[in-house]
Amino acid sequence: MMDHQFGKVFFVGAGPGDPGLITVKGLELIKRGDVIVYDRLVNTELLQYAKKEAKRIYCGKSPNAPSVSQEEINEVIVREAQRGKTVIRLKGGDPAVFGRVGEEAEYCRNHQIVFEIVPGVTAGTAATAYAGIPLTHRELGSSFAVVAGQKRRDGKGKEINWKGLATAVDTLVFYMGVKNLPYIQEQLLLHGRAADTPVALIRWGTCENQETIVGSLSDIVERVKEAAFQSPAIIVVGDVVKLRKKLAWFEEENHRQTLLKEAIII
Ligand code: SAH
Repeated sequence: MMDHQFGKVFFVGAGPGDPGLITVKGLELIKRGDVIVYDRLVNTELLQYAKKEAKRIYCGKSPNAPSVSQEEINEVIVREAQRGKTVIRLKGGDPAVFGRVGEEAEYCRNHQIVFEIVPGVTAGTAATAYAGIPLTHRELGSSFAVVAGQKRRDGKGKEINWKGLATAVDTLVFYMGVKNLPYIQEQLLLHGRAADTPVALIRWGTCENQETIVGSLSDIVERVKEAAFQSPAIIVVGDVVKLRKKLAWFEEENHRQTLLKEAIII
């Protein structure tokens, strides 16, 4: 088969939840795609913009249920492109932030499939912004890091440099870390982060059901347990969390809307 008969693959960031947070370029591509291969954390409202005849393929990996393997996903993408289709590989947040775009793009390259990567708004910046926690602030934080918070089940992957991380970066944002929160807390304390450092967990950030829980490095594990707080959530560690007291605009607005609706019903 000749190259030019192949379709192209676009890795597109769908944003963190609020469908309005996809890029203009990303949305245009959804409208053009012949095949949309989408993940679990993609807001499915975005799929309504796809062509009626576009093939929609769900490739979600659920933490608790049997799911599609990475190899199968790679194969689906390449197979569709080899058939000449324009493939939109839609990923939650930004495809290059814990989105495995590296592996999928490499697989495309190995099969002579051309691709583009369209970045998206990642959960770490978006959920925090909606929770009233700017990641940087002139007095409270001049650096931030995004960190994979889960422990890999296969024991592979790079172990986090906790010693460096605990004190060198002002604001830490952990993805996929809710289950592993006790270990994260332990490691940060062990390596010198102050016990009174504020911590927030934001669940379903930028969605209508966004929920936030705040504590300190010493008591956050207890609080999360009491509230039975679950993923998908990000964990933010650092003094910028203090800003939320004044800046929690989104949840306040949701609350106001709820009260308004109730008043109308009464
Ligand atoms: N590529 C995605 C991250 C995928 S890893 C991005 O850039 O956002 C999946 C993890 O992202 C979840 O375990 C959770 O920690 C985080 N996450 C994704 N969407 C989220 C949301 N709406 N609110 C809070 N955390 C979210």
